Amino acid sequence: MSRVAVIGGGLTGLSTAYYLAKEKPNWQIDVYEKEARFGGKIKTKRVDGYVVEIGPDSYLARKTAMTELINDVGLGDTIVANATGQAYIYDRTKMYPIPGGSIVGIPTEFIPFAMSTLISWSGKVRAMRDYFTSPYPTDGDVSIGDFFRYHLGQEMMDKLIEPLLSGIYGGDIYELSLDATFPEFHALERKAGNMVKGMLAARKQRAAMRPKGAVPQGQFRQVTGGLESIIDALVESMPENVTLYGNAAVTAIKKEDGFVVTAKDRTTRYDRVIITTPPQAYRAWFGDDAAMAELMNMDLSSCAIAVMAFERSAFDAPLNGTGFVITRKTDTPLTACTYISSKWPQTTPADKIVLRVFLGKAGDDTVQRLNEEELKKVALHEIQRIMGFTAMPLWIEITRLNKSMPQYKVGHRELVGRIKEHVARTYPGLDVIGTPFDGVGMPDGVRQAKELVDRLKKEV
Ligand SMILES: Cc1cc2nc3c(=O)[nH]c(=O)nc-3n(C[C@H](O)[C@H](O)[C@H](O)COP(=O)(O)OP(=O)(O)OC[C@H]3O[C@@H](n4cnc5c(N)ncnc54)[C@H](O)[C@@H]3O)c2cc1C
Repeated sequence: MSRVAVIGGGLTGLSTAYYLAKEKPNWQIDVYEKEARFGGKIKTKRVDGYVVEIGPDSYLARKTAMTELINDVGLGDTIVANATGQAYIYDRTKMYPIPGGSIVGIPTEFIPFAMSTLISWSGKVRAMRDYFTSPYPTDGDVSIGDFFRYHLGQEMMDKLIEPLLSGIYGGDIYELSLDATFPEFHALERKAGNMVKGMLAARKQRAAMRPKGAVPQGQFRQVTGGLESIIDALVESMPENVTLYGNAAVTAIKKEDGFVVTAKDRTTRYDRVIITTPPQAYRAWFGDDAAMAELMNMDLSSCAIAVMAFERSAFDAPLNGTGFVITRKTDTPLTACTYISSKWPQTTPADKIVLRVFLGKAGDDTVQRLNEEELKKVALHEIQRIMGFTAMPLWIEITRLNKSMPQYKVGHRELVGRIKEHVARTYPGLDVIGTPFDGVGMPDGVRQAKELVDRLKKEV
């Protein structure tokens, strides 16, 4: 029998314990979570008929590990797809529809793109010139920003690509690694010769794979009970050989005949340790290991999410589509707004409207500088100004996510390779997975958990 400690009781840590315990019923698995509640960043407000996410909001359907987990814990019949609708870009003072047929801002249909008033004619000609462009001249990694600017030009970057892509990582896309964030674009470009040809081919392939007559579904998924219901179900279905310790911050991990883990008043010896925490937590355990510095000092971006509810009858602005993103050059700390009640109708009572407003962009310190009350005021004032309404909210929830999103800078994959190699060599029996390494989204954490369990299940 092996004893295993899983550190971190967010989605990744809980999934690791769940799948490992099922594969190894005779192993004892202890999960240590710093907070009293499990689930980490996942938080759902479930009161008065609202089931609204105040942390992460939904997941990408094509990343199937999350759907598999939801099915495994018995919530498969609660999965819902987002309602599709027109999305907009707000640039300086005006709202523009995102041209139809674009995939993350990259045009794949000529007419809607040509008709769009968001991009000037010279910007459009520059983007279409990509049809004759050769692949980005490098064999290695490149920043997302440099790659797309090379193909589509600066105006397309500023008005479409940057606002759509930077929101996902909350960072500066001229620093973020293409290969660690959107490797599929690099692969498409290499295969087709350039970005526009690549996207046209991808669109054709997608259409061919869709059953005849099928209406295209939204690409995101939620569960009707809210994402926290997945955490509840995971905790409830945890096999008997798992013990969950809440309020149990791990303060020391010592390598000696296996590992000795200290959490609160417990010091326990383990054969294996699996860490699933954010990168800053490693400082308490590996502060004197210079080879872990790159991991412990990884850049993290901050943001805040303001979720606000209104009486539908009092809301005095048109609510077209599902929301909008905001260009970086627009003078506001806001970066996006989703009309939750339109995109996810099951989350909100029919007579209410819920908006989810994002604050915090590269080079703007509003989120770090203001306290929660000030952030509420700024979020409300700015969204009223941009959307042109005066209605006052029934409630506002602010979630401040300070230094929460690991920044995968150019060369991130090599960095992860170096760290994992060092860990394997110096601390045999230790595994490190989660958002600092191979994907920042919820399904990426579950996938990493499953990949690790697949490897460990071969051990006796
Ligand atoms: C603003 C924002 C929006 C997001 N939106 C989405 C989205 O819409 N869709 C999506 O797929 N993903 C989204 N994500 C990403 C998503 O939140 C993460 O992928 C997911 O929550 C990661 O889960 P995790 O378990 O790996 O990490 P976490 O949720 O961070 O859990 C780590 C756990 O480790 C614990 N811990 C830390 N230190 C210690 C210690 N010393 N001892 C014990 N425990 C410790 C923490 O308390 C925490 O519970 C978003 C992230 C952010 C920041």
